Amino acid sequence: MGMNATPFYNFHTHTHYSVKDAVMTPKNMVEALHERGHKYAALTEHGTLGSSYELWKECRERDMTPCLGCECYFVDSYEDPGANVPWNYGHITVVATSQQGWLNLKILHDIAWRVGFKVKPRIQLSDLCKYNEGLIITTGCMRGPVGYDLLGNDKFLTGESVAFRKARINKRIGMLKKAFGPRLFGEVQLLELPEQVTVNKYVRKLAKKYDFPVIVTGDTHYLCKKDTDIHDAVICIGRKERIDDPTNSTYPTNQLWLKMPSELERARKNGTSTSVRINYESTSRIRISSLRLWKITSCVQRAVRFRSSLRRQSVTLAL
Ligand SMILES: [Zn+2]
Ligand SMILES: [Zn+2]
Repeated sequence: MGMNATPFYNFHTHTHYSVKDAVMTPKNMVEALHERGHKYAALTEHGTLGSSYELWKECRERDMTPCLGCECYFVDSYEDPGANVPWNYGHITVVATSQQGWLNLKILHDIAWRVGFKVKPRIQLSDLCKYNEGLIITTGCMRGPVGYDLLGNDKFLTGESVAFRKARINKRIGMLKKAFGPRLFGEVQLLELPEQVTVNKYVRKLAKKYDFPVIVTGDTHYLCKKDTDIHDAVICIGRKERIDDPTNSTYPTNQLWLKMPSELERARKNGTSTSVRINYESTSRIRISSLRLWKITSCVQRAVRFRSSLRRQSVTLAL
């Protein structure tokens, strides 16, 4: 099994399974990538593997390889006082590259929903490191393990100095590098925001220090440029806000469309790669039937309770 020759673009993508935050379907995305001649399609929804089956199915119909992933919510440790503060969590992009990776991703998903749930299904970094086999991981978006602290977005924990936050970033990256080795990637994004430029710069700096490659992603939330308006409307519906209110929560960027390799290529500098070259041979053989197992054993506790109530119902009916 050697390195696959076909590069893998558009690593970080969301569909409507990232509820009220993205406006394309797995089918839309796979079709678009197929038309462009891509061989791989990845999905990294917020905190859920829900779109994995659709991705797998749509890819299989077009002889493409599904890259099953998740933009996990994370906290440093469930024991941290900060982990008890609602809304204080980061994002981290994870993609499975093998059957073992898929199994680990399901375990992590399960832990996040059952053990780490607070506002969002959160995973602690030590668990991510423990179940790293077969997974690749990136430094994510502006709310990633680098960006969140660098930008001082930890407004829930006031009074932390820049030096303190940088030390925390370094601790995280050191930990991830130790566990994931060559499967850790820096992620820089193509957003025109000054905050993103700051994060990109610091990611490149850390990449030199900890010796990991950097990839460019689009953090895709919709198919084409013109879908920005629909995306804004969806965000407003989700947050119960008005589209004509200038203080609404719509994203401060309109650049979240599915980028062409050429568009990603333009952002390439300082040895940055626009694609991930990884041995994906084993991914194409991922047995998605194990999804059924995941559907039954994992997910929200509410779903589990619902299921047991169904079971009770069926027992009653059988009587
Ligand atoms: Zn994110
Ligand atoms: Zn994202």
